[in-house]
Amino acid sequence: MIIGQRKPLKRIFEMLDPYDRILIAGCGSCVTVCMSGGLKEAEETAAVLRLHRQAEGRPVEVRARVVERQCEPEFLETLDADLPHFQVVLSLACGVGVQRYSLFRPGKLILPGLDTLGSGLPVRQGLWEEVCLGCGDCLLDQTAGVCPITRCAKGLLNGPCGGSRNGRCEANTENHCAWQIIYDRLAARGELNLLEEYRPPKDWSRGHWGGPRRLEREDMPIV
Ligand code: SF4
Ligand code: SF4
Repeated sequence: MIIGQRKPLKRIFEMLDPYDRILIAGCGSCVTVCMSGGLKEAEETAAVLRLHRQAEGRPVEVRARVVERQCEPEFLETLDADLPHFQVVLSLACGVGVQRYSLFRPGKLILPGLDTLGSGLPVRQGLWEEVCLGCGDCLLDQTAGVCPITRCAKGLLNGPCGGSRNGRCEANTENHCAWQIIYDRLAARGELNLLEEYRPPKDWSRGHWGGPRRLEREDMPIV
């Protein structure tokens, strides 16, 4: 799932400062699950914005809405009736949703209310961790299901850097050393021989570093 967090309120207030009719649009998908950009967060943001303007003695009209997914036009259409009245939309979707909305309604100013962090998984209640950088050439079959590109601070492909202490990464001791986890898992499976196989440098052009990628399915019917 895509994970993100709401921008600092100070930044949101600055972005919205020139406007007094504001629609706050939540997204009902990933950002609802990670409690950053769903209806609840849209209503909370609307409430603090009203209080902020009240304290400044400036009137503001704010409405909070949510659509099922902001990355798809058919869901964004459900906001069309409200759109002409509002000067600006603060989108609490991920960067994909914000861009989708801007492309779909180019005449309307759509501002990002969220900082998108990447692709993560829920670790426990209230904690999500980034685990995949979408490199376009997955090697989890060789690394016991642990992504060294994302979870190793140096993105090493052929084993640890040697700097870890007590299973922690030398770059940030809050993180476990990815290669220590990989080693432990391979050892438990009796597959340490996989560490002896040299992995050549990846073809990074298949990842984002080759520019934005596309997924096209020619077998899908066009309607
Ligand atoms: S190897 Fe690539 S595709 Fe697989 S989890 Fe890591 S970044 Fe994602
Ligand atoms: S300590 Fe482990 S996770 Fe950190 S950079 Fe070195 S090999 Fe990667």
